[in-house]
Amino acid sequence: MLSGLARDGGLYVPETIPKFTKAEMIALRGRPYHDVAFAVCSKFTVGSIPARELKRMIAEAYATFDHPAVLPLKQLEANQFLLELFHGPTLAFKDVAMQLLSRMMDWSLARHNRRAVIVGATSGDTGGAAVSAFEHSQNATLFILHPHGRVSDVQRRQMTTVKSKSIFNIAVEGNFDDCQAIVKALFNDLAFRDGVGLAGVNSINWGRIMAQIVYYFYAGLALGAPDREISFCVPSANFGNMFAGLVAKRMGLSVDKFIVATNSNDILDRTLKTGRYEVTGVHPTISPSMDIQVSSNFERLVYLANKRDTSAVRAAMGSLAQSGSFTLKSPALKAICSEFDSGATSEVETSAMMAKAWAGMGELLDPHSAVGLHVALQHKLKSPLITLATAHPAKFPDAVHNATGQNARLPSRLSHLLTAPESFTIVPNSVAAVKEFILSNDKR
Ligand SMILES: *Cc1c(COP(=O)(O)O)cnc(C)c1O
Repeated sequence: MLSGLARDGGLYVPETIPKFTKAEMIALRGRPYHDVAFAVCSKFTVGSIPARELKRMIAEAYATFDHPAVLPLKQLEANQFLLELFHGPTLAFKDVAMQLLSRMMDWSLARHNRRAVIVGATSGDTGGAAVSAFEHSQNATLFILHPHGRVSDVQRRQMTTVKSKSIFNIAVEGNFDDCQAIVKALFNDLAFRDGVGLAGVNSINWGRIMAQIVYYFYAGLALGAPDREISFCVPSANFGNMFAGLVAKRMGLSVDKFIVATNSNDILDRTLKTGRYEVTGVHPTISPSMDIQVSSNFERLVYLANKRDTSAVRAAMGSLAQSGSFTLKSPALKAICSEFDSGATSEVETSAMMAKAWAGMGELLDPHSAVGLHVALQHKLKSPLITLATAHPAKFPDAVHNATGQNARLPSRLSHLLTAPESFTIVPNSVAAVKEFILSNDKR
């Protein structure tokens, strides 16, 4: 959790995945979200975080959500359901994990009498969720890089209107790839990394995956698991959200199918259909939080599908670095295809889905959730299918208005956003400049 990425560049995966018995799962059915969160997370944290501390962190993290069910589950049609993950402070599903991660990090740092500098790059949702989560951090200072002038107003203001001594917004004179390259360079500078206690909160942080496992259980149990199989459709980019579902299944949740939904940045859909993972260019879409070139968490699936054979992962990642692609071999590919289906949604289909959901179901969907539902409706399964709704429609008002004619309203607790004063620093597109900014502002 504190180091994020291993020093050899690999991603962490638990040595063993804990299991639930059927009786344990049945006992959780109908329990509040907090209880399910404690049951799931404590399987991983037992022996490192005391139960009462974990309970406190969970209670505080989900008190920031403004729906009584925390994550409400809605029925849309006979076998189609929507799980709304966007009732947190920044209106995207990133809040679910980030609010808990910040509290776990703060507690661990305090216990080891350490401080951390957290650096992250954002093209939109991650930055706001991190700023909100670390606003009150005692032991971490957060530096978030965003491409200057290239994020939406709501997204930028969610980062820059938070007044806190532990938050610094860096507007880099470059694009998102430049921001990410700077962050990567900082992590590869081992002297700097060790000197400031560099930590990361992007979607490869295992702490985030753990917190996301919870809602697969919560929603699955509500629809009759473990006595019945449930399917999930997930609007995906870095594959963190979907991978959490796979871990839930490995922990004992009865899952029929996982369906990966992408926009026209379809590397995951292509890989699942052909076995070839190949990087192409990024196309900007109306679901920008899914506009990615590489899907970093896919590495974890490659690892599990190859039965934890690290040499297979090393070969795939080496090939990716060398040539921008790798090919999954037969037993691993077959294993993956037995559990996952996929689909890609075009821009026209995304807008049409938003219009149809509004006119036919009375649901105002954001474009990311619409990508998911479009793919879900093409799959007629025998099991109940839960689509994860990953953002609030008010976070993407233009796309929603263009498709439905509706004005998605920001919840009143966010109405200050558009007028509050902003604070950010414009920094040249250079590793040295960002490094210097961090060193001169990380007061301890
Ligand atoms: C981050 C994000 C996604 C993609 O999630 P991954 O875990 O990266 O697959 C989908 N929708 C929204 C709104 C997001 O912010």
